[in-house]
Amino acid sequence: MRLFECGALVPGCDWHTRADNDAEIVRRTVEHLRQAHGESVIRENMIDNIKSRIVEETKAA
Ligand SMILES: [Zn+2]
Repeated sequence: MRLFECGALVPGCDWHTRADNDAEIVRRTVEHLRQAHGESVIRENMIDNIKSRIVEETKAA
C-alpha cells in the first residue's frame, strides 16, 4: 500500500491518503490541495513533489 502524508508538503497538515497506486494518490492529493489549501493551479513540479513524498507503507502482519 502506498501512503502520502500532506504534512510532508504542507507543514502542520495532518491529512493523508492511502491507495494501491501512485496515480490514485496524486489524484486525491491534487483534489485535497485544491479544496484544503486553495491551490487552484497545480504545477508540474507540485506533482513531482507529491510523487517524491509517497512512501511504501509496510504493515506488521
Ligand atoms: Zn493538506
